[in-house]
Amino acid sequence: MSSTIKLPKFCNHCGKAFIAQKTTTQFCGHPCASRAYKQRKREEKVSAEFKNQQSKIVSAAPAVISETLQAPQAGNQTNLRDKEFLSIVEVAALLGASRWTIQRMIKSKRLPVAKLGSRTIIKRTAIDNLFN
Ligand SMILES: [Zn+2]
Repeated sequence: MSSTIKLPKFCNHCGKAFIAQKTTTQFCGHPCASRAYKQRKREEKVSAEFKNQQSKIVSAAPAVISETLQAPQAGNQTNLRDKEFLSIVEVAALLGASRWTIQRMIKSKRLPVAKLGSRTIIKRTAIDNLFN
């Protein structure tokens, strides 16, 4: 017969003291082991569901995120500096201001603009002139 060890332990599920015969035993008996197993499975399912929900929230939001990220982006700025005509959004990105600020400046005639159909374009030199 193999050496039987007697190891006083506490059940991982019900917390009851019991004598384990193996160091790896975690539960007082089969009922606790299977209950704990089911519980773990349920928790895994819940956390998987939670992650699923989170990714749904993130994927539902990109419209909002891209709207807020349209402002200063290092990669874009070098291109914007080379353009002769800019849109309101581009000017906002270039100056690190919000498009509302730019629109306010346009309304108060501090920033001259041209209309290209329904689009508002701002000449690059008009921005430079702000600093003159
Ligand atoms: Zn137990």
